[in-house]
Amino acid sequence: MADRPSVSAPRSGTRGLATTGVAGFAPPRGGLTVLTVAALAMVGAACGGPANPAADLVLRGGRVYTLTWSDPAREDGAPAADAPHDASGWHPDAQAVAVRDGRIVFVGSDADVQAYVADGTHVVDLAGATVLPGIIDAHTHADSYARKLLQVDLVGVANEAEAVDRVVAWKHDRQIPDGEWIVGYGWDDGAWADHYPTTALLSDKLPDNPVYLRGLHGFAVWGNEAALSAAGITRATPDPAGGAVLRDKGGEPTGVLKDRATELLSSAVPEPSDDVYDAALVTALDSLAAAGITAIAEADVGAYHLAALQRLETSNELPMPVWVWLHTQGFDPDTVLLHGWLQHGPDTEGRLQVRSVKVFWDGALGSRGAWMLDDYSDAPGQRGIGGSAYGVSRDWVSRMAEAGFQITIHAIGDAANRDALDYLDSLYVVAPSARQNRNRIEHAQVVAPEDFPRFAELDAIASMQPQHAMDDMRWAEERVGPERIKGAYAWRSVRRAGALLAFSSDLPGADWHLFPSLHAAVTRQNPAGEPAGGWYPEQRLSPEEALRAYTTWAAYGIFSEDRKGAIAPGRDADLSVTDVDPLATAADDYGSILGGRILMTVVNGKVVFDGRK
Ligand SMILES: [Zn+2]
Repeated sequence: MADRPSVSAPRSGTRGLATTGVAGFAPPRGGLTVLTVAALAMVGAACGGPANPAADLVLRGGRVYTLTWSDPAREDGAPAADAPHDASGWHPDAQAVAVRDGRIVFVGSDADVQAYVADGTHVVDLAGATVLPGIIDAHTHADSYARKLLQVDLVGVANEAEAVDRVVAWKHDRQIPDGEWIVGYGWDDGAWADHYPTTALLSDKLPDNPVYLRGLHGFAVWGNEAALSAAGITRATPDPAGGAVLRDKGGEPTGVLKDRATELLSSAVPEPSDDVYDAALVTALDSLAAAGITAIAEADVGAYHLAALQRLETSNELPMPVWVWLHTQGFDPDTVLLHGWLQHGPDTEGRLQVRSVKVFWDGALGSRGAWMLDDYSDAPGQRGIGGSAYGVSRDWVSRMAEAGFQITIHAIGDAANRDALDYLDSLYVVAPSARQNRNRIEHAQVVAPEDFPRFAELDAIASMQPQHAMDDMRWAEERVGPERIKGAYAWRSVRRAGALLAFSSDLPGADWHLFPSLHAAVTRQNPAGEPAGGWYPEQRLSPEEALRAYTTWAAYGIFSEDRKGAIAPGRDADLSVTDVDPLATAADDYGSILGGRILMTVVNGKVVFDGRK
């Protein structure tokens, strides 16, 4: 493209000045405009003009929850006075939605929506299905998901031998020639932290291909001798700050690299061709659409990935809008990419928007790479590292913030969360406009009690993942002990402190489907119903809060609360249709949420998935 001098360059013609990108933003917790069904019908009629021009799409016969009423109570999730809720429970506040030119033009009753039906209208009878505002997954790694489609799937392997067997079978099934890299993903770098594998068996069974196997949580990688050799990793390779090359007693690398050291190996793996990668990315995004997801924020985007997203936007193949968080991780930030965007400023137009940067403030709890205020309960003397010691370039982050970019900070440990909040506090002193950038703390996983109120004070969004609690609850308390665990995965504490809570999946590392996540949010139980009564059940949310964290609240985190996150005339026609009604489900029947299915997904008025048959 003539206007795209390099893959890492911002696009010209879509410049959004830093200040205009966030000007006039609405406060996050002020609630949405409240409209009754009758008022919605009137607005719809007014939008339609006297003749009610025909809709492109009409959904009718549904249980529509608009989420246009006020937020629930922070203390216990009790529905607001204007919510469609009474002593008998929740009731849908509309039956039908009409859509034209990608926007909602009417929300109301089946009878009144008829005025929008004409010859060319695609009419869908929902037969009582539930219609929710489009689900927003505002922390994804679709890139990893796409690459996963090109990689050996090691999720669920019980041990090293089983992992190696799967790699051998993959080489055989795909007839991979000697010399070609084999990439795999999903061995459990959290659960295996005390008994990491080595090169020995992997090199023995696969001597002729470099093999690179990324851990489930992305904080440890495992390679064979051919891979280490291709990457130039030897006994002379120093441990980078914030990372470790695991070694035997003699100092020889044993095949696993942790945290910041993972890049020593990952950087040696060649990229797939553009065609292969783009096709895998489209497949991945299509499956997100089939899971009801209508918008994503994509974390850790580098030049290669951004170029692919730009190609798909140009060819109109993005099934949903994508908010890009530029990658800043690494020993040397991708300065070409960042320099270009720093000069350009945030891109706030179109289906693909680049207005955020992601920065890692520490590692992960499973690998004890999270930065803690005190020692790990199961590893005296260790408390991880973070912030500047972890390689964070505050100068770079601050320059991007001053240019108007949203800062999304990965912080797991209580020290990392505190230091990240301290950083935002100091940033707002020197760059007051940065306060309006909707900065986010990603995961906010272990937080000291006195720090919860600071999220609200610093306008920092707590961006959390229900499934992480389910995945980690087997060992998290061993790491942090019985006191600190009370501030871990603490969704209710975030709400109670008045901070904005957004949910996401962090896919593909955990089960990223909506229903197990909603179930986890309202029960603090895994799909097997464990533990009985829920894991620290005082942190449970109500179904409405869980839904809002994926819709209205998540929308604020992607600067879209006036267009997404609720069903109302004038908003984007983003709808997720399900065969369960999470609001009307009784508390003693929350297990039934797990059986939910997405029946239809609508993005900007277009049916991108229809699975009703
Ligand atoms: Zn992530």
